[in-house]
Amino acid sequence: MTFVPHGKHLIAGEWIAGPDTFASDPAHGPAHTFAVGTRALVDQAAQAAEVAFWSFGWADRALRAAFLRRIADEIEARAAAITLIGCQETGLPEARLNGERGRTTGQLRLFAAHIEAGDYLDRRHDAALPDRQPLPRPDIRMIQRPIGPVAVFGASNFPLAFSTAGGDTAAALAAGCPVVVKGHSAHPGTGEIVAEAIHAAILACNLHPGVFSLIQGGNRSVGEALVTHPLIKAVGFTGSLAGGRALFDLCAARPEPIPFFGELGAVNPMFLLPAAMAARGDAVAQGWSASLTMGAGQFCTNPGIAVVMEDQAAAFVAATLAALRQVAPQVMLTEGIARAYVQGRDRIAAAPGVQSLLSQDCGPRQATPQLFQVRGQDWLADHALAEEVFGPLGLIVTARDAEEMLAIARSFPGQLTATLHLNDEDADLARRLLPVLEHKAGRVLANGFPTGVEVCDAMVHGGPYPASTNFGATSVGTLSIRRFLRPVSYQNLPEAILPKDL
Ligand code: NAP
Repeated sequence: MTFVPHGKHLIAGEWIAGPDTFASDPAHGPAHTFAVGTRALVDQAAQAAEVAFWSFGWADRALRAAFLRRIADEIEARAAAITLIGCQETGLPEARLNGERGRTTGQLRLFAAHIEAGDYLDRRHDAALPDRQPLPRPDIRMIQRPIGPVAVFGASNFPLAFSTAGGDTAAALAAGCPVVVKGHSAHPGTGEIVAEAIHAAILACNLHPGVFSLIQGGNRSVGEALVTHPLIKAVGFTGSLAGGRALFDLCAARPEPIPFFGELGAVNPMFLLPAAMAARGDAVAQGWSASLTMGAGQFCTNPGIAVVMEDQAAAFVAATLAALRQVAPQVMLTEGIARAYVQGRDRIAAAPGVQSLLSQDCGPRQATPQLFQVRGQDWLADHALAEEVFGPLGLIVTARDAEEMLAIARSFPGQLTATLHLNDEDADLARRLLPVLEHKAGRVLANGFPTGVEVCDAMVHGGPYPASTNFGATSVGTLSIRRFLRPVSYQNLPEAILPKDL
């Protein structure tokens, strides 16, 4: 099934062209022309979202659940076309796009079931105590209410699951918040066809068209106008630290500051404990190599750093090198990301004390695996070594002993994940590391690899800054709905006017 994008914005049910255009830059296949977003369109979308909020935010949960399921159905009805344009724009393989589509429709349906169950409302009731002394207690009820229109920015590396109808959009719509998406310029055609699916679901469910708008980018001022628009009440962002920080600062500087839920980058350290490495160091090296290079290393959960005891480093390096040498060059998401990868490699290579173990040339828009090693004392002296290089680059940090491994763990900034590879005999060291790792990361794993994030109730995909800008939140799993809700107490309100959900 072919799909030729028309290149328009979807603003409150209308497909709108613009005077200025930009061309997409696909990894393969034809380029297409897309309208550039403007401040006027941002205003139009935000105004419509505000109007839609007064019906959508108070709509029955059953209607919102049906809407989420209908979006999933409409995405599936366009499956082949979505995969085709998604592969062309991002260079990601077909199996990846198909898998990501399944995750995207799966999380829409998960949120439908979640709001039907109703636990997310966190209903509380303190019944009146009219005879209490010295003062009577009023009747107080509480539930979580939607916050209003939400702006969503997706990331280039998840053109479906963290984009137009991705986790942020699903969570906001489930909560009852209309959504204005700023389209990603790396996959504008994928954004357009997914917006078509949402538009079809709005029509099928007879909802206000302002419930969803997509404004294509092509100009950074679009994103700035969106996060500073007075009718936008929160932002869900997945992307780079630099982009996220710039938009976070704009949100904080608004006359009415709003929450900015930025899911940014991480290096996701792995701590390789001695007994586990003695027993199965080669298997850990092979697993690391596969995880590090999956999808050209373009995962926010990519485990970029392995911390290993000095006396076990040589064997681990040899096994890792053998595995990485098997990995062919891979296409990167954009020319810009490929350039940043090479710059990141050069930055690590030039850092004091860093030894290059595998340094390979990268072709245009391509990544090849790179491997470096540094001693713990040099790592501890250079905080820049803990900054994400987006791509298949690994850095092995060697620790003299358990104390130095603990010091290295303490030196990390906030992370999405931290991993322990351990056997039973490693329990004492693992027990000492765990309080440090849980203080640093949103998710702690044992004997696994962090790429691959389960969408479920207990998942936390977030962490202290710079992993995210809001350590109390997650962007994956049902708990992510809490970002777009706020608790309201109702004191002595007559039953007749209380919200239906109470
Ligand atoms: P990006 O370059 O920051 O772009 C994300 C979005 O923000 C795009 O729509 C982009 O607009 C916009 N943007 C960026 N800087 C901006 C600015 N200064 N002003 C206004 N808008 C701005 O990120 P990316 O390359 O798409 O994604 C890769 C990064 O995302 C990696 O660092 C990866 O680790 C991280 N990531 C994190 C997670 C997570 O869950 N934590 C998941 C996936 C990816 P344009 O369209 O104009 O570029």
